[in-house]
Parts: sequence; structure tokens; C-alpha cells
Amino acid sequence: MIDAHCHLSYIEDVDSVVDESMKRISAIVSSAAEPEYANKELALSKKYSGFVFTALGLHPEPAVKMSPKEINDYINFIHSKNNEIVSVGEIGLDYKNIKKRDKRRESQVIFSMLVGLANELRLPIVVHCRDAFKDCFRILEDAKVDVVFHCFSGTDDDAKLAIERGYYLSMSTLVVKSMRRKLQTKIIPLKNMLLETDSPWLDPFSSELKNRPWNISFTADAIAKEKNVLVEEVNNATTKNAIKVFKLKNLKKVGVDWVLPK
Ligand SMILES: [Zn+2]
Repeated sequence: MIDAHCHLSYIEDVDSVVDESMKRISAIVSSAAEPEYANKELALSKKYSGFVFTALGLHPEPAVKMSPKEINDYINFIHSKNNEIVSVGEIGLDYKNIKKRDKRRESQVIFSMLVGLANELRLPIVVHCRDAFKDCFRILEDAKVDVVFHCFSGTDDDAKLAIERGYYLSMSTLVVKSMRRKLQTKIIPLKNMLLETDSPWLDPFSSELKNRPWNISFTADAIAKEKNVLVEEVNNATTKNAIKVFKLKNLKKVGVDWVLPK
């Protein structure tokens, strides 16, 4: 199993969390959502090479607080780290938290620039989208690379359109406690699914920042139950998808809990 999206650099006891994760899952894709955390994330994938992989992105909320020069510098920085990362993400739009029209417009321009960056680097995009699916889908028409909706939060129609376009929908630990998300997994084929925790956020059992990468197993269990398939099928499909989307190489741990479906 692979945690396709989390934020290790926000976790205090990160080394013990990675150690424990190594015992339980196959890999982690950890994302810097703003410049401040980028070097810390890159250092982690260097230290835990073959187990932790880095995504560099810019969450829409910090993005609209940055100056054009800061954004430009960060884009150049991501460009220079091309060989050390597996994805541009998370990037996107958040109309739940960004209400002002001019700021929403600004975030669209930044998102669009970052989609261009991913195309140029030929890296998959991890999208953060909240209450902004119409504009997200429009901007993503320009994407020439794989697209993953992290912690998918759209309607069933949004899910259908994403599937039609061949996007991946990352199922977070929210699935464990949200009946709506649980039911929605029925219409999402396994070939479009990834598993993620968004750790330390979205703890399946509390509202504290206690979520950890191995909790994807609870999401897998919930999906298996809802879709009436074996949990191994969920694990195999989502692991395979993550390896394919992020082109994960030199994986240290695949094989331990990962059996190819016949
Ligand atoms: Zn995230």
C-alpha cells in the first residue's frame, strides 16, 4: 500500500513515523504545499530514498499571499529540483477558504502557471480542489500529464467527469468517517483510485492532527466493504496506480505486502 499524499514535514516525530510506516506500508508520497517546507521534504526523500518520495506544490491559500516575484522564484526552484520530485502538487483552487473574487482570480492564474510547469517537467499533477470543480476542470483541460484529485471532495457528477478524463481520485482517510464519501466509492473504479491520508490532517478517529501514513489501511477496508471486493484487490490496484502515476522507481518495499492480481 502507498500513501499517495501526506505532509511529513508537518509531523514532529517524523523519523519514528517513517520507521513505523516502513513496517506497515510500501511507500509515501509527501508534499510540500508551500516554499517553507520544500527543503525539509526534499531532505526526507533523500534520507529515506526508495520509501519517501517528494511532491513540490503550492496550496492556493498560501499562494494568494505571495508576491509575483516570490511565486516566480518558487517555480524556478521547483524547476531546478525536477530530478528529485515525483509530482507537482498540491496545487489548485479553494473557494471554500478563498472568498474574494480578485483573490480567486489570482489563484486561477497561479494554478494555471503550475499546470504549465508540470507539463514542462512531465510530472503528474496533484490537485487540491474545494468548491471549485468547474474552474478546476476548465484549467485542467491544459494538462498534458496525469492528474490526481487529492482527497476527492466533489459530487458524483464531478467524479464521473474526472473518470471520463482518465484522472485519478485519491481516497483519503475521510472515507472512514464520511458516509457520503463511503457511498461514492461505489461509482469510482479501482483503476482510478489512489489511497492517501493527508497526514497529519484528516485523522480517521479524531479531529486532532494525529493522522499517520499507515492509516490508509482503514480507508482500504472501508472501500473494500462498500464495493464488496477483497481488501487485497483495493491494495493491489491502488499500489499499482500510485507506482504508475508517480513513476516510482527503486522501491525498497514493494513485494512485502503487494501481490500482483492474477
Ligand atoms: Zn494535503
